[in-house]
Amino acid sequence: MKNFKKNIRNLSKEELQDFFLSNGISSYKGTQVYKWLWEKGVVNFDDMTNLSLSQRSLLKREFIINHALINNKKLSNDGTSKYSVKLYDGLIIESVLIPTTRRVTACISSQVGCSLDCIFCATSILKRMRNLNSDEIYDQILLMNHESLISYKRPISNIVFMGMGEPLMNYNNVLSAIKKLTSTEGLKMSPKRITLSTSGIPKIIKKMADGNVKFKLAVSLHSAIQSIREKIMPFANKFPLEELLDALLYWYNITKSIVTIEYIVWEGINDQKRDIEALVEFCKKIPSKVNLIQYNPTDNFHKSEANKEVLNAYIKTLNFSKIRVTYRKSRGYDINAACGQLANKITSN
Ligand code: SAH
Repeated sequence: MKNFKKNIRNLSKEELQDFFLSNGISSYKGTQVYKWLWEKGVVNFDDMTNLSLSQRSLLKREFIINHALINNKKLSNDGTSKYSVKLYDGLIIESVLIPTTRRVTACISSQVGCSLDCIFCATSILKRMRNLNSDEIYDQILLMNHESLISYKRPISNIVFMGMGEPLMNYNNVLSAIKKLTSTEGLKMSPKRITLSTSGIPKIIKKMADGNVKFKLAVSLHSAIQSIREKIMPFANKFPLEELLDALLYWYNITKSIVTIEYIVWEGINDQKRDIEALVEFCKKIPSKVNLIQYNPTDNFHKSEANKEVLNAYIKTLNFSKIRVTYRKSRGYDINAACGQLANKITSN
């Protein structure tokens, strides 16, 4: 028989209050159910202990709770954990927890697969299967928080949208998950601890700035020379670097939040003096800091990271121009949990 029950998580707080009112029960029960669903993250009506048995039965008759589940977990030698998370329709995404002495960072996915086609990224092979809805993004964060409490004995402190997918191609859902996450009805997380990483979609960067958002922005640049960028990030042919720069300036002028430029240096791609100079020129135009990322080899891209001398030349030249730069070592490499390696290598059951 077809299941006609509705997913209770599609209801707003007001709709839940109305549901109880229309059943002759105080609307306050709706507020309590909303808290169970979004603050405490319960996935069974029987765990809503301040509801009477008959109120729980009423909910069970009318609704189901669609939710994501942890399907598999792998632990790296460096303490990083990678999870495959099964969505209500059986599709799988991946999320990663990265502990340090002071933080636990959750790396969150925004799409199943990815809309873009960066040739060095394992996720791009998957193509985009679908966007995650905002509940699924939020669920993923609740699951990671729960796992962090179990594995690292503390809640997650930071969130980076650097998992599978391009968050700006699913912007509305990502934004509403962040809103819930930072609200007093959610995990009450400070937006300053959230970073959204994008390959750079100028129009949506401007829209984000207009929305007066308070989280941080990181942009995967990888080359400040248009022709080279298009080779490694083919979608970038639609978005000339000048347009990206213009959008980043717009973002900075409104938010006053400096942009992190993510950049991998490969041998034979962007290891020349002119590549370094182009990056310096780009960064001089926009208040930014550069994060050089260690390249994690993937099956589909047979290039190596540039040698130490080239990396040092980048660091020296950026420092000389008073542009902040750090080099980010990979975590979780042995379990394919590092940046660009998320491609469902752990099988679903
Ligand atoms: N689509 C978004 C977020 C997902 S990728 C974006 O492009 O920013 C998260 C980060 O991992 C990006 O900076 C991306 O460029 C980087 N990345 C992708 N493949 C990588 C690889 N093989 N090694 C290291 N970093 C990689």
